[in-house]
Amino acid sequence: MFNALIVEKGEDGKTTAGVQQIEIDQLPAGDVTVAIEYSTVNYKDGLCIGPGGGLVRNYPHVPGIDFAGTVEASDDARYAPGDKVVLTGWRVGEAHWGGYTQKARVKADWLVPLPTGIDTRHAMAVGTAGFTAMLAVMALEDHGIKDGPVLVTGAAGGVGSVATAILANLGYDVAAVTGRPETADYLTSLGATQIVAREDINETTKRPLEAEAWGGCIDAVGSAMLARVLGQMKYGASVAAVGLAGGADLPATVIPFLLRGVNLLGIDSVMQPYENRLRAWERIAQDLPMAKLEAMIQPATLSDLPDLGRDILQGKVKGRVVVDVN
Ligand code: NDP
Repeated sequence: MFNALIVEKGEDGKTTAGVQQIEIDQLPAGDVTVAIEYSTVNYKDGLCIGPGGGLVRNYPHVPGIDFAGTVEASDDARYAPGDKVVLTGWRVGEAHWGGYTQKARVKADWLVPLPTGIDTRHAMAVGTAGFTAMLAVMALEDHGIKDGPVLVTGAAGGVGSVATAILANLGYDVAAVTGRPETADYLTSLGATQIVAREDINETTKRPLEAEAWGGCIDAVGSAMLARVLGQMKYGASVAAVGLAGGADLPATVIPFLLRGVNLLGIDSVMQPYENRLRAWERIAQDLPMAKLEAMIQPATLSDLPDLGRDILQGKVKGRVVVDVN
């Protein structure tokens, strides 16, 4: 028997989440069994712990879109007992049982071997949020980062915190947009050189183009903020669109694309091909200072998850939660 956070749906359609003991036979089919060490909390996890958000197919459900641990048994030649592995995406924790459990059985194709230089706890401090931040940095690099500060929106959140730390470590000036002024010291400690108040950039403007300010942008917010940022990008600069914390709409004009050659780059972490996953995890081990990552960590256990799920949906989580499932 081992512990798992189980979400059940009542006859009234409401979900409840609590820690229960389950048996290995209850795990879904898969070719690799992993003894999980750590998981984390992303925005999607908030949805899957709570109302489901249309993501969860069947109940009872084990949420947790990320996990890291040690292979316990494997029917796949790529993995052997003792291997350290990390899993993000592939709809694990949504359509499939996820990482809020002490053991999981998954497809070998979904796993990535943990690169040297990063342990399972730090891998979960990174999690989908940090992995996506790295994908966004790689996309900006591939398209060329222009002179001038790189803007990070939703900076005190998970994606934003990791993006800020990586970009600063790579030598870029980072302008961090936050709606929580009390996080300024935290963001500066991660390497931000400029703090931008959310309200300064959230208001819509009738002008499709403003002064050229940013050499690149990683946007976790979307909506009016992304629309405004597009008109502030330097000539030929790129915006990596990662999230929708401020809304899924985009009330923008095409003028920044046509007159300034601005690029809008879509970033998806869920179906990302294996080779790029490997590259991103290796870059994380290389370019994300572990001391800065440590400063983002908020420790938690399985029983904290129902509250944390609510908190992240309300934008109240700072940095990265690391869940010790044992
Ligand atoms: P967090 O909740 O940790 O961070 C989001 C941050 O956005 C908040 O901390 C806050 O930052 C800011 N924010 C929240 N609400 C608003 C608002 N109404 N207007 C402006 N800013 C706001 O979430 P994550 O960092 O984990 O994820 C960020 C986004 O990225 C989410 O939408 C998530 O779904 C998406 N995502 C997408 C992935 C992909 O594959 N494309 C993968 C992972 C995440 P502050 O307090 O600093 O203002």
